[in-house]
Amino acid sequence: MSSEQIRVTLAGERETLLPRGSSLHEVLAPLSDPNNGFIAARVNDRLVDLTVPLDGDAVVEGIGADSEPGLEILRHSASHIMAQAVKAIFPEARVAIGPAIEHGFYYDFDVQRPFTNEDLEKIEAKMAQIIAEQVAFRRTELPREQAIRFFEERGEKYKVELLQELEGATVSLYQQGDFVDLCRGPHIPHTGYLKAYKLISVAGAYWRGDERNVMLQRIYGTAFADATALQKYLHVLEEAHKRDHRRLGRELDLFSFSDEVGAGMVIYHPKGALLRHILETFEKREHMRRGYHLVIGPTLLRTELWQRSGHFDHYRENMYFTEVDEQSYGIKPMNCLSHMLIYKSKLRSYRDLPLRYFELGTVHRHEKSGVLHGLLRVRQFTQDDAHILCTPEQLHQEIQNILEFVIEVMGMFGFSYEMEISTRPEKSIGTDEDWDRATSALMAALQSKGIDYRICAGDGAFYGPKIDVKLHDALDRRWQCATIQCDFTLPERFDLTYIGPDGNKHRPVMVHRVILGAIERFLGVLIEHYAGAFPTWLAPVQAILVTVTDRQLSFAGEICKRLQSAGIRVELDNRNEKLGFKIREAQIQKIPYMLVIGDREVEANGVRPRRRNGEQLELMSAEGFAALVEQECLQETGGRIGIGIV
Ligand SMILES: [Zn+2]
Ligand SMILES: [Zn+2]
Repeated sequence: MSSEQIRVTLAGERETLLPRGSSLHEVLAPLSDPNNGFIAARVNDRLVDLTVPLDGDAVVEGIGADSEPGLEILRHSASHIMAQAVKAIFPEARVAIGPAIEHGFYYDFDVQRPFTNEDLEKIEAKMAQIIAEQVAFRRTELPREQAIRFFEERGEKYKVELLQELEGATVSLYQQGDFVDLCRGPHIPHTGYLKAYKLISVAGAYWRGDERNVMLQRIYGTAFADATALQKYLHVLEEAHKRDHRRLGRELDLFSFSDEVGAGMVIYHPKGALLRHILETFEKREHMRRGYHLVIGPTLLRTELWQRSGHFDHYRENMYFTEVDEQSYGIKPMNCLSHMLIYKSKLRSYRDLPLRYFELGTVHRHEKSGVLHGLLRVRQFTQDDAHILCTPEQLHQEIQNILEFVIEVMGMFGFSYEMEISTRPEKSIGTDEDWDRATSALMAALQSKGIDYRICAGDGAFYGPKIDVKLHDALDRRWQCATIQCDFTLPERFDLTYIGPDGNKHRPVMVHRVILGAIERFLGVLIEHYAGAFPTWLAPVQAILVTVTDRQLSFAGEICKRLQSAGIRVELDNRNEKLGFKIREAQIQKIPYMLVIGDREVEANGVRPRRRNGEQLELMSAEGFAALVEQECLQETGGRIGIGIV
C-alpha cells in the first residue's frame, strides 16, 4: 500500500484502497441510489459534509435523508436556507439561532414587525428559488476573532454574542450564496437536496429564552426526505390541531384553567369530573382485582422526612414548601413516603410479601411556566401510583404482573406501545449486584412476555433501573405513560426489613409504578386519541334525549328517569329550540346516543336511538336501550365495566 493510498471500510464491511484526498462523494458514489442519494456521511463515528476529503484510513457510512441523523441534517440545512430567504426579503433582519428540532426546525430573527402569513408565503417562494439554483454549502474555518469582526461588520450582534462565548481558537462558518452563518455543520451538499419542506407557524421567542431579553420572531418549519412523508406529517398536524385537548376541553365543557387560580392548576367541570371519576373507579377495581391495597397518605409531610428520603437534596427545586406552627412542611411531589411508613408500621414477615399499596395520589411539582401545556404539563396532578415491596425472589413475577396490567389496560383504550429499559447511569447508588439483579428482572419479565424493547444505556434514575412504556395514539404520536421503577435507596434510607424464613432480617425490594401515569395527562392524551368521541363506557354523557316539540317533554322526562335508574348517564335537552339546532349541538358534544322523541315515540312508549356515527336503530323500550348500552360497555371493556359505574 503506497502512502498515497488510504484504507476505507464502507458500510461496515467492504474495504477498499483509495487515493488519499478522495472526497466522500466519490467514496460513496458506488453505494448511492441516484434518486435518493446520501446527504452526508459518518466518518469514524463523526457526521461530516460529503465535500470533506479523506486524508487517512477511515470507516465510512453514507447518511440518507430519511435516516434519523439524515433528517436532522436536512432540517437544520433547511433552517439555513430559510434564513437566507428571510435576509433576501428583509435585509434589515438580524439572525439569532436556527436548530433542527423534533419534527422540524426553526430560526429566530430580530425584525421590526412580526412576520405575517403572507410573509411566510413569500419566504417559502424565495426558498424554492434558492433550492432551484442548487447553491452549494461551503465550509470555511477561521480564527474566532476574525469571525467576530466578520459578523460585527454585518451588524449580526447575536452571532457576535454567541461567538464571544465559544471556546476554541477557530470556528467554522458555512456559506450558501451571500448568506453566511456560524455553524458546526454538517449540511446537505447544496440547496437542491431539500426536496420537501413547509413553513408552519410564527411565534414570539425571547433571545435565549429569557424574558428580560428582546423578543425575537421565531419561524417554525419542517422538512422531510420526500413529499409523501411531508404530506403525511402535515395531515397529522392538521388532525392534531382538530383534536387539541385544550380546545375540545372547552367545547365539551370538561375543564378549564384560570389566571385567578394560578398556572398549571386544572378546574374540572361536571363532565370532566365525571370522566375522571369513571377512570378512577375503573382503576380502583382493577387494582383490587390484582391484590393491591388501597391507601391514602397526607399532602403535607414534615421537611425532615423529605430530607431523610433524599428528595430535599435531589428534588427540592421541584417542590413547594409551607409552614405550619413554625414547622416546615413539604407538599408531596410523590406518594412513596407514606407508603413506606405504612410498611414500617408493623413487623413484616416474608409471608406478608409482596405488599402492594395503591393510591390515587395528588402531587404538586413545580414546572417552569413556559413548559405548562393544557392537561399535558400541569403543576398539580393525580397519579395512579403504587409501591410494591417484595422479596428479591418475587421481583420477576411482580414485574410480569405489572406488564400484564399495562398491556391489558392499553389494549382496552386502543393504544399500541413500545417499551424501553433504562440502565445504570454513571452517578448512581447501590451495589453492582443490586443493579444486575433488578435490570435482569426487568429484561427477563419483558422477554418472558415476548415484548421487544429498546435499551437506553445509562438513562436510569440514580436509585435504580426502570421500564418506560410509550403509547402510540390514533395519530401515531408517542406518549410516555406507565413506568416501572426499581429502587434501592428508599428501603435502605428508611431501614425497611422483613423476617426471612431463616429468622433473620432482610431488605425488601421496592418497585414504584404507575399504569396511566398522571390522570390529567392521560385524560389529555385520551381526549386527543378519541378526538373527544369517548367510547360509551367512558363517555360522561352516554345518551341525550331531544324532543321534537314541548308536547313530548313529560314523556321524555319519564324516559330520562327510567334510564337514569337503570344506570345510564343521560341528559334531557328541554330547551325550547328548533330540533335541528338541538341535534347539531348533541353532535358537537359527541354523545354516543341521541334519542329523538316525537309523537310516534310517545305513542309507542319507546325510543329510537341514533348512534354517533349516524346509524339509526329500531324502536325499543327504555329498558331495551339500557340493555343495549350495557352490552356495548361490556364489549368495549372486555367484560370489566357495564352501566352504573358511577
Ligand atoms: Zn448549520
Ligand atoms: Zn414512588
